[in-house]
Order: sequence, then C-alpha cells, then structure tokens
Amino acid sequence: MIKFVGKGVYGAVAIGKIAVFKRQTANADKVQISDTEAEKARLQVAKDMATEQLQYIYEKALAEVGEEEAAIFEVHMMMLEDEDFNDAINDMIDSEKVNAEYAVASARDQFAAQFASMDDSYFQARAADIKDISNRLLNCLGGGIGSAEATDDKVILCSDDLAPSETVSLDKSKVLAFATAFGSSNSHTAILARNMNIPAIIGLGEEFLVKISDGDMCCVDGYTGEVFVDPDEDTLARLTKKRDEDLEKKSKLKELIGKDNVTMDGTKIKVFCNIGGPKNIPEVKENDGGGIGLFRSEFLYLENSDYPSEEQQFEAYKNVLEAMEGKTVVIRTLDIGADKKVDYFKLDEEENPAMGLRAIRICLTRPKIFKTQLRALYRASVYGNLGIMFPMITSESEISEIMGFCDIVKAELDAEGIPYSPDIEHGIMIETPAAAVIADRLAPMVDFFSVGTNDLTQYTLACDRQNSKIEKFVDTHHEAVLRLIEMAAKAAHDNGKWIGICGELGADTTLTERFLRMGIDELSVSPPAVLKVRDAVRNIDLTK
Ligand code: PEP
Ligand code: MG
Repeated sequence: MIKFVGKGVYGAVAIGKIAVFKRQTANADKVQISDTEAEKARLQVAKDMATEQLQYIYEKALAEVGEEEAAIFEVHMMMLEDEDFNDAINDMIDSEKVNAEYAVASARDQFAAQFASMDDSYFQARAADIKDISNRLLNCLGGGIGSAEATDDKVILCSDDLAPSETVSLDKSKVLAFATAFGSSNSHTAILARNMNIPAIIGLGEEFLVKISDGDMCCVDGYTGEVFVDPDEDTLARLTKKRDEDLEKKSKLKELIGKDNVTMDGTKIKVFCNIGGPKNIPEVKENDGGGIGLFRSEFLYLENSDYPSEEQQFEAYKNVLEAMEGKTVVIRTLDIGADKKVDYFKLDEEENPAMGLRAIRICLTRPKIFKTQLRALYRASVYGNLGIMFPMITSESEISEIMGFCDIVKAELDAEGIPYSPDIEHGIMIETPAAAVIADRLAPMVDFFSVGTNDLTQYTLACDRQNSKIEKFVDTHHEAVLRLIEMAAKAAHDNGKWIGICGELGADTTLTERFLRMGIDELSVSPPAVLKVRDAVRNIDLTK
C-alpha cells in the first residue's frame, strides 16, 4: 500500500480502480501564420510554463530523492534554453511563417535524429531528452484534450490537473473521484467535483503520477485528503465503512426535500443552484433547488468548436427556463478567459490572464459576440423568470455600457416584433474588490448583486486561484473577503436590492450564520450541497 496526502476539496469517500488521464500532445500540423512576432511570443509563454514545471519537479526531486536523481530535470531546463534549439524554432517561424507547434516538432525531430546518430552513448541518450522537453513544450502550447482509458467501470481519475476544456470532454458518468498532482481548491476541477458530489483531492505531488498505473486499486478520502493506492485489508475495510456511513448521512438529508429554507426565527433564505447547462437540471430537481442562481453560460462556448449561434443559445436558455417552471433563473453572460480558454476566440497569450481580457471585458471589446448572447437571452426570457448577470465588473462605466447594449438589443427585437419579458432582472457579480468597495454606487444601477467569492478571494488576497503552490496562503475565511461581502450586502439593502453568493463559499456551512447575519438573501450552491445548506439554515436562530 502507498499513501499520498493532498488537500481534499470535497468531502466524500470513493473506492475503485485508477484511470490515468491521457493527454494527447498538441496537434503539430503545419499552419501558415501571418503574425510571426505573436507566434514567437506565444512560444515564449509556453517555454516559461515548461520551465516553471521543470523547476517544480527539480526542487521536489532534490528534496525527496537527492541531487543525482534530480539532475536530469536541471539538464532539461538547460536544454530548453539551448541557443541552437531555440534558434532553429524561431528561424523556422520567421522564414517559413509556420505555427510554433510545427516548428517545435520539426526541431525535435531534427535534433533527436542528430543525437541518435552520434557515436558517444551519452549524446545518444540525449535524443530521448530532446523529445521529452519538446513534447512538454507542445503540451504547454495548448495541448489537445485527453481522455480516461475506455472502461465500463467507474474510475478514480488521476491527472496532473484538468483544464475546464478537458473536464467538459469527460464522460462524467464514469468518474468516481478526482485525484490530481497539482491543482487548487478554487480550480474548476474542484468545482466540478462538488457539482458531481464526488471526492476530489488536489496537490498530491508530482510523485503521485509516477507511482500509479491504470487499474491499481485505490481509496480516496476527500475529508482527510488521503489517497491509498493498493490499500491493505484494514484500510479497505475502514474506508468502505466510512464511505457507507457517509452515504447514509447524505441520504438522511433527503428528508429535508420539500421543506423550507427558513431559520428558527422565521427568516426565509433562498437556496439556489449553480449549473453549467440544461444537462444539470435533473440534479437541481433531485436536490430540490429553489432556482438557478448561476448558470455559467461559458460552458456552452467551451463545449462548442465554434461560436454557438443565437439559435443554439436561445434553445439552451429556453430549455432551462422552461424546466424551472417560473422559478428564478440567473444566467451569467460568458465568462471566457483566464483559465477558461476557448481556441476559436483566438485570444492573445497574456502575462496575467486572470487580470487580462476576460469575461465582460471580452464582451465590451467584441460587441458582436455580446449582442448575439443578449439577443438569445432576451428572446428566451418569455419562457420563465430570467435574471441576466454580468461578470468581472469593476466600474459604473462598464454597467452603463452594458445597459447601452441591452437597449440596442431591445430596440432591435422591438423592430422585428420579437417579444421579450418586461420583468428581466439585470445584476452584476461582485467578484473584484473594486466592485465591493463602490457597491454603494453600483447598487442603484442594477437589480441585484451576486458575490463570486472564488474570484473575490483571488483578487483580494492576490492569490492566483489556479496556482497550487500558494494554497497555504489562501485563507478562504479571510476577514478582508468577509468584510467586502458585508459592504456589498449593506449597499444592496440600502438601495432596496437583493444580494446572493454564488461562489464556492456559499456552500461553506461554517459561514452560513455569518452570511445570514450580514443579510445575504440567497445562497447559490452546487446541486448536491442544497440540502446541507438547508439543514444549516434551519438550525440558525438570528435573534440570539
Ligand atoms: C466566482 O468567481 O466566485 C464565480 C462564481 O465565478 P467562477 O468560479 O465561474 O469564476
Ligand atoms: Mg468568477
């Protein structure tokens, strides 16, 4: 038995066989490009990423297995910087106007062949290294999506980390748990696990992937962050008991289905659900969600190989609104960018994508995309009770500009005789410290606020939510974040508006009482967390 310890990001226990996530190397087909400087800049970003990965592996190997074993990763870092290798790639991009992937693959083949043909066995062995670093570089250039081994059994999916574009392509009905070498608690793998009600453990370390193989028996304890590969009899029995008790406790919560979300003193709270699309509706119903507090519309874009048409979006929004039968459905306009990458948007590589061209900033710079989505939303509004929510807001001028686009779209629909609901609510996410601090100015301009604690925490604590190395600095209960939420709640209520929380903190029942005392009106959580939150709400007495 081998035991690994990481950080559990969803409390549940799973027992099953391992499937190691297979990532295809990037497609290195030749593509003619026109902007060679942009292509070389893209290559540089990938190179920096590869160096960072190698540095991490090197330091870990040095600490755990010693200088001699770690040295190879130092060699890889040096090879990445090799002038001849880099000149070959850059010259090819310049002279032949080809994509970086093609240039890297060509240099790999040329250099590997040269090394392999040398007499000296030391240099011959370098052929494998040049292939290794080139493939790492290709993966960093974007990589294709991988897949778990095809199998009929449910599996414990193990990976370095999973990008949102990769999680959307998974057959989730086959996944029992996630276990990743890297990752962070606010990453989308963690969010996905909570949505699926399955355990997820992140930060198990590079060595984890070296020591496991497809088909290994494994126990995952999301409460303690422990992963047992090839468990001994006692561990297997103990974890089986823990899993069964956990399932029983969760099934007891089902007794709360149909009951109100009301505190002991009679305060009513809305407990809504976060979804990624119409396919999540069955889980919302199963868990008695009172509405949709966050429909992450960007998943429609992530699942598509080209911009989803107005018609395609209209169908998805209508579908959810109809299924919710008049209950509130808050659809967030696309939140692409940062970790949610979509190739066909052709966004430039950025030094700090989380602080770059993302979410509403894309919409306001690419109005055609924004207007298409707004038209689909307005048209769908007649099928239910719609709220439209805008992400990443920092200023009043952004809201004015957004409302300007809404007016244009409404005028277009009026001219075409297409109906839309007069009762649509327009709200914003409070997920930047700027928005929280000027919430008193923003509140009069909108109908509601919803706090995105995932990004609000990232920006307030200056901790990149994707960076697993800084996990220990991420205090999700940091007083600064809580005070910003409180400021936003006060501003909302002073202006007669409602405020919810749709970030992951909304499901943290150790904070439910604090949130209710701030006056939070709605908590939007992953469907499997609804009953747990209802239970917490029903045990709070706000008069005490
Ligand atoms: C958030 O930032 O808290 C949020 C709900 O949005 P996302 O996690 O999709 O960025
Ligand atoms: Mg966010």
